[in-house]
Amino acid sequence: MSYFNTDVIAQVGTPPGRGLVGALRLSGEGAFGTLADCLENAGDFSPDAPKRGTFDAAMPIPLVRFRNGTREQCVLPCPVRIFLMPAPASYTREDVAEIHLPGSPPVLKAGLARLVAAGARPALPGEFTFRAFVNGRLSLAQAEAVEGVIRAGNEDERRAALARLGDAADEFICRWRDRAMDVAARLEAALDFADEDIDAGAADVLAGLAAELEREGLVIKETDRTAETGLPRVAMAGRANAGKSSLLNALLGTDAFLVSPEAHTTRDRVEREAEWHGVRLVAADTPGHDAGGSDGGRLAAERAFRSLGGAEAACWVVDGSVALGRRDADILRVLSGPVVLALNKSDLPEAVSIGDALAFAAREGRTVSGSVRTSAATGEGVDELRTMLADAVRQQPLLRRWNRREALELTGALAHCRDARDELAGAMRLELASESMRRAVESFSRAMGEGYAESALERIFSTFCIGK
Ligand code: GDP
Repeated sequence: MSYFNTDVIAQVGTPPGRGLVGALRLSGEGAFGTLADCLENAGDFSPDAPKRGTFDAAMPIPLVRFRNGTREQCVLPCPVRIFLMPAPASYTREDVAEIHLPGSPPVLKAGLARLVAAGARPALPGEFTFRAFVNGRLSLAQAEAVEGVIRAGNEDERRAALARLGDAADEFICRWRDRAMDVAARLEAALDFADEDIDAGAADVLAGLAAELEREGLVIKETDRTAETGLPRVAMAGRANAGKSSLLNALLGTDAFLVSPEAHTTRDRVEREAEWHGVRLVAADTPGHDAGGSDGGRLAAERAFRSLGGAEAACWVVDGSVALGRRDADILRVLSGPVVLALNKSDLPEAVSIGDALAFAAREGRTVSGSVRTSAATGEGVDELRTMLADAVRQQPLLRRWNRREALELTGALAHCRDARDELAGAMRLELASESMRRAVESFSRAMGEGYAESALERIFSTFCIGK
């Protein structure tokens, strides 16, 4: 069954088993005619001259009831309230009716069956939102945000999804695409007049565009498993043996992270979903960041080290019983987002104070948003650290958080821009650079929801909720 139709669709619009009142939703060409066929006592409602507004009526629906111990089929006139929203002033920009009736699941199911018997088709997942999208009511990013609001696991996620709904994400992408189109046009012009030098401005615009995209941290988001959940990531960062794994175990209250007295036991990243003070996040342990061991180990360590920069917040773990070193400076430099200092091993004699560590960070140009003395051995300071990390994530301004689809497309656009930049800088391969820019423009367009094949769009919407 395809989404690309304008026929009348119907679905239960309220979550099952919640509330006294349920809603059936109807949308499409001829929706009001279908509705009229299902109603009695509808007053002066006429499907040919529908007026926006509300009226009460009865909807005869088939139900099974038990009488004197026997099961019997009957048709009950169910009292309903109708909300009429003629096109185009409706969610889907089609004729839409909402039928409010008792919220019991059998009644809703029978009501839907009644609408289907009158010619409506049960809507596919997300099909109402799909129609809002194809009729220009919502951008693809907004349609996805609607789904985000519905699926939000807690208040923070709901706020983030709502912010996305009114967000100007498309405007950003649109401006990037304009610049890519500008570069593409200049390169094509240069191709046409092969004797002339290529317009130096094109290379500048391209370099600026690529740099801006790089700053969005898209590459990390794309390769990062966290991109699946879309949750913010908190990275444990610090020298080998500072106690990162032990602290994370303490924070999570589990022993999911490998702890050993030898350095380099945390080879690759280990991640765990957690909810601290209402903030859902992914806590990530990373290797000791001290190159050592086998080549494979070094590679994994290097990869994880670079990924630190992509985390929304970081916990800088310092072993308070040994002096700070150059490696701490390297680590501080790669971190992005707010940094919380955990001066660990407070149960051992102190070699570094919180003041020392803060001054050290300041010299590296890093401000630290919170600091606490901790001991993974005794549990001292672990509660405070958890609170500080949750706050650090919460207080981040709501970033334009690209969803996975957008991140993938924008990452593609960035790769094409980089290719074009290299092709221009290197052997001046104009045709190649021009082709790369054409692809970059296409990726930007897809990020905005344009130019998707029908099947790709259907795939996106088929993961949405039924009835929305
Ligand atoms: P990582 O390499 O930073 O992940 O460090 P680990 O968590 O593997 O810890 C390294 C060693 O330090 C292990 O032997 C831990 O038991 C020990 N350790 C970690 N935290 C503390 C602490 O707060 N106090 C003491 N005394 N030892 C700790």
